[in-house]
Order: sequence, then structure tokens, then C-alpha cells
Amino acid sequence: MAEESYDFPPFRPPSEANSLLLRVTRGCPWNRCAFCPMYKHVKFEKRSVQTVKRDIDTAKVYTNGKVETVFIADSDSLVIDTEEMCQILGYLHDTFPSIGRVTSYARALTLKRKSPNSLKKIRDAGLTRLHIGLETGSAQLLSRIKKGAGPDTMIGGCTKAAEAGFEVSLYVLLGIGGESNSQEHALETARVLNQINPDFIRVRTLVPQPDTPVFQWWNEGSFQLPGPETILKEQKTIIEGLSVTSRYLSDHVSNYAPVNGDLPCAKTKMISLIDTALDNISKDDSLRADLESMRYLRRL
Ligand code: SF4
Repeated sequence: MAEESYDFPPFRPPSEANSLLLRVTRGCPWNRCAFCPMYKHVKFEKRSVQTVKRDIDTAKVYTNGKVETVFIADSDSLVIDTEEMCQILGYLHDTFPSIGRVTSYARALTLKRKSPNSLKKIRDAGLTRLHIGLETGSAQLLSRIKKGAGPDTMIGGCTKAAEAGFEVSLYVLLGIGGESNSQEHALETARVLNQINPDFIRVRTLVPQPDTPVFQWWNEGSFQLPGPETILKEQKTIIEGLSVTSRYLSDHVSNYAPVNGDLPCAKTKMISLIDTALDNISKDDSLRADLESMRYLRRL
């Protein structure tokens, strides 16, 4: 039996709930986003190819070799050397010939820095989808939340990934503009999404987490957390502004309404669902209170 050394990543997208989780790095090499607590207490490190291969061997024992999807962690796997990533992907696919999808988180800046040839090599070696945190398309907000990438970097990195053949899945963070910048956030996010035209748009709603600057801004009153009406109107403005051919998903527990659909076909239906949710809130204070209580969710 292979040595039991398996290093489980602490986070994965909800869509990877049934995937084999494989850690090629630990932590986040950036680790400065103002809303993000994910790897605050993890020292960033690259794991050796040999160590990752050992985890693949261990996974084979425990899965009987039956794996269909894999998620590679932690937050920015493509920072490792291209040849090393290709070696890991080659070993992964050789070990589990049944694999159909291999995905990873990635930062737009890392993608922008990679050569087109490197990205193509990694795609050809079997990494198929990238989950990238856009959060917002607003230059001002991206700067304030210290995302480390402006709209041009977001567009450039994501476009390069798509050109290399990756499926591009973007996260949007509803509420990150606060009450005062909600509409700017929505309009600029739609503008950037239109330029990228990702395969997937996945929305999450901001829930301030302890140990983050956003939580501190909220507590001291310099950031006004948007209420459910603002969040839903923000989401409506984003969808109204989109001219993409993307699958839009509200696949996270933080969201106020199950707004899902393939754009552009489902646009009218999605907007109508938001209008119904807004109407329901306007008639039912207890519903608003229930939704507002979600801002106290922790460890998302
Ligand atoms: S949001 Fe992503 S890039 Fe930003 S600190 Fe968190 S893990 Fe790192």
C-alpha cells in the first residue's frame, strides 16, 4: 500500500464536491485580498512533484482507481513550473484513465504572466477548466479590495486561458461595492464579463469573515454591507448588462435567490425570478430578516 501522506486542501468549489482533491501547492502566493480569509494562516509553499505523485498513488488505493473528476489546489496552482505541472497531470491521467475533467483555481495575473505556449502545454497535458476570481470589474473596487489585478489583467489573463483551450469559470462577488458602489460594481462587472465571455459565471454574496479587512471596515462603519434588495438589484443590473454566451450559476450557500440559467436564452426568466424575490421581500419583513441573518454565516 502507498504511504498514507495525503494532504487534503481546505477549500474547493462547490461544483467539485465529488472530485478527487489534489494539492500541488499549499496556501495562496498573494494572500492579500481584503475579503478573503481562506489561507491567512497557511504559509505558501510549492509541493514537490514526487510528493504530489505519492498522493496520487495513495488516492488510487482509496478510490480503487475510479476517479472521474479532479480538483487541483490550492489557490493558484499554475504558479508552479510548467514542466512540473505537466509531469503531475501526465501521472494523474496515467493513474486514472477514467478522468474526464481536471480543474484548478487560478489567478488572472498568473495566467497573464504565462506564455501562450506554456498554457497550451498545460491544457494539452489534461488540465481542462480554470476557476478564476474576478469578484468585480470595477478598477476602483479591485484596487480597494487589493485583488492584485485590474480589469485589463482580468480580461488579458482570462482571454489567454480561453485561447489556450481552457474552460473559464469566473467568480463574481455580489455586495463587494457596499451600498454606495453597488451599481458601479454591477455595470463594470457586466462590461468585463462581456469582454471575456467566460464559459461559467458563478456568483457568491459577500459575507464578511473575521480576520479580514472587509470585516473590520464593516465593524468600524466605513463599509456599509448591502441589504438583500441592493444585492438583488445589483444582480439584476449585471444580468441585464450581459451579452455573453455563458452558464450563470448561483451555486453557493451565501446567495439570496437561485438565479441560474444559460445566457442569453434564460435572461428574461432569470430577471423575472429576481423581480419576484424583490416583490416577496417588499411584502414580508420576516423574509428580509431571514436573508439578512445570512450575513452572519462563518467559515464559507
Ligand atoms: S481571493 Fe484568492 S487570490 Fe485573493 S487572497 Fe484569497 S485565495 Fe488568494
